[in-house]
Formats: sequence, structure tokens, C-alpha cells
Amino acid sequence: MIIEKIAKNLVLKNGTIIDPHRGKTYLGDVWVKDGKIAGVGKVEAPADSETIDCSGKVITHGFCDLHVHFREPGREDKETLKTGARAAMAGGFTRVCVMPNTNPPLDSPESINFIREKAEECPIHIHPIGAITKAQGGNDLTEMGLMHKEGAVAFSDDGLPIQDGAMMRIALEYSTLLNVPIINHAEDECLRAKGVMHEGIVSNHLGLSGNPDLAESAMVHRDLELAEFTGARLHVPHVSSEKAINHIRRMKSTNEKVTSEVTPHHLFFNDEALKSFNTNLKVAPPIRTERDRLALVEAVKDGTIDCIATDHAPHAIEDKETTFDLASFGMIGLESCFGAVNKVLVQDEGLLIEDVIELLTSKPRSIMGFEPNLFFVGEEAEITVLDTNKEWIFGKEHIQSRSKNSPFYGESLIGQVVITISRGQMSLI
Ligand SMILES: [Zn+2]
Repeated sequence: MIIEKIAKNLVLKNGTIIDPHRGKTYLGDVWVKDGKIAGVGKVEAPADSETIDCSGKVITHGFCDLHVHFREPGREDKETLKTGARAAMAGGFTRVCVMPNTNPPLDSPESINFIREKAEECPIHIHPIGAITKAQGGNDLTEMGLMHKEGAVAFSDDGLPIQDGAMMRIALEYSTLLNVPIINHAEDECLRAKGVMHEGIVSNHLGLSGNPDLAESAMVHRDLELAEFTGARLHVPHVSSEKAINHIRRMKSTNEKVTSEVTPHHLFFNDEALKSFNTNLKVAPPIRTERDRLALVEAVKDGTIDCIATDHAPHAIEDKETTFDLASFGMIGLESCFGAVNKVLVQDEGLLIEDVIELLTSKPRSIMGFEPNLFFVGEEAEITVLDTNKEWIFGKEHIQSRSKNSPFYGESLIGQVVITISRGQMSLI
């Protein structure tokens, strides 16, 4: 993949323009001048503009991922903000939020500032999410107000659930002053115990210790009750189970402040895939049964789930090339995201391509309060060009991340990102 500076005048010609903000699909061109939108639809660009033929392709907003782990500071051998930004562009993402479970964690105004400054050198927009508790220890609240001032867009101890209900209550109460979401990795650690995969028939069959769906749903239920009580904005990350979905659906019928996300891997795989003992499928929360997977699809269809987020979690080879019990939790996911969700939701489940694009663009942006009207003249160009029908086999050559822990190798995906434009740069596959 090449990333290069875009021409002074660039025209993406004859594409199918999908504008998720206005809810419109039409044929036309997009003209980018000095890195900003200069015209959409019928454009009158200078004759010497660089043009790219986009016939048969979709031109839409750059994707936005609310949930990635870029490992900087501390584990730059796994990923840095720069390598993560490359992986993001390969996946069509122009904007991401990085989780704070770095080493040290993003638990102070200074650490939030560190990310903001480093992000300036990257070709995409990177927003830090601050830790809820100091050192993610679960005991002392961070200086959320000061961190918010420095640019923290939300708060989470992701990777580590907030076990203490009183701490979660205080965090939610405090967040209402800042009007930012609290994102809690919902797993009851006692119920999860030493579970390495979903507890059920397959875990019994494989002889691996199970992590029951109750571990997620019990904590999601607690968090929803606390969110309602405090009036705070709760965002439930990487929902994996039918039980948790049922709680969220019920609460959303009366509380519009609750939002949730699902990962491509929870939509794509079920626990039968773990019969291969592929450690790249070891994630938290775990990949669950086909029944759970179908419940997630239903939840996407009826709006219980608001957006797609990858939970891109890079790990070194030695963290994954070990026994299933010892392997680290997590997989990378930016590069395979669109091909995977487009295949499941559009080809298999009959959603419209417009629906999938909303889940990757306008909906995550609205949760974080990011600018949604990206085809407005004068707006900085954040654009993704897609070949939505392309069938391709995912392989190592598609990875831009510094880590390679993907379970999508060899999988046939549908829909590929062709061009990503962000911050005056363009990536071409
Ligand atoms: Zn998590």
C-alpha cells in the first residue's frame, strides 16, 4: 500500500456517491482542493486536476472506529500510532479512538496530551480515550475533567472491567458533567474465571475452560441500571451475547442515551471455528454460538446496535504462537473489517450497502460528537472509495499493522477498500 500526498486538485470521477449524513445515493464526482471538499456531484474542477476513475465504485465518508488498541506508549513492537494509522487507512478508516490500556495507561492529562501531539504526525485523526481509574486499577478515579480538556473523548478501562459497582456509579455521575460516554468492558471477572472461550458444547468438547455469556450479560445489566439511575451516557463495547443484547434492547426502548457496538469478528465467526484451536480467535469477550451471532445480526437490523467497531488488538507472534490457554486475548481487525461486515450484512443478511456504511461512518461519529457532514464544501476531505462487489481472499499481504494476529487469513471476503483520503494524504491498495 502506498500513502502519498494528494494533488492540489483531485477529482474522484463517476462514482456512486453515498452520503450517509444526508441519506442520499447518486452518481457523480467528488472534487478535493487543497485537502478540502470543493464540490460533490456535478463539479467544475480545473482542467489540469488529477482525476481518478471511480466508475463502478462507491465514494463515501471515511470510516470511524471507536475502539482500537495502538499499544503506544509501551509496546511499540506490537503497534505504534503511525503503524496503526496505516492499518486504519488500509481498512478505509480516517478517524479512530485509541483505548487507554497502554503502558503506562492513558490515565493523566499529560498522557492524553502525549497521544494528541503524536497523533499530529499521523495521516488519520486519532482521539485518545482516557482511563476511568488510575493505572486502570479500579480504585481511584482519574482527573477526568482535566483529561477531557486535553482531548479525551470518552473514558474506559477497556481490557479491564470496572468490577466495583460504586466506582462505576461515580464514573457515570462524573461523566454527566462532561457529557462524554463511559465505555465499560463488560465481563464479571468472577463469572468469567479462567475461561478462554465461550462456555458451551464446543468448550466442553475441546476441553477448554469456558467463559459463560452470563459474565457479560450480568455486568451489562448492572451498567444499564447505573446508566439509567445517573442519567449518564453508557456505550456498551463489543457486545457478544444474545442475553446482553436483550438487556440493551429493553433499556434502549426508554433510554436513548445508551449506545452499543459490535465487532466484525463477533458477526463473522461462531465458536465452532475454535475447533481449529486458532489462537487468533481467542478474544475477550469470546466468540459465542451461532444463536448469539444471529442475535447480533438482528440487533444490527433493529438498531439495538449502533455501530461497528473493530477492537483492533495487535499482539506479538510469541503471544499467539503458544497453547490456547496461554495465548493473549485479541485480534487485529482494521484491514479485514469492511470485507467481513459487508459479506455478512449485505450478502448474507440482505442489508443495504448504505446501512453498512452508516454503521461505519455517521453512527459512530454521532456517538462521539464528531463532524458528520463530511461532503459539505470546505470540510476537510475524509473519503473512502470502495469496490463493494469485489470478492477476495484475505492474506498477510493485506496487513499494514505491525502485528499479524488475524483469524481472517484464507477467508473469502466481499468488498474491498480501494482508496482512503485523510489529512491531505491518500492511500492506494
Ligand atoms: Zn474490551
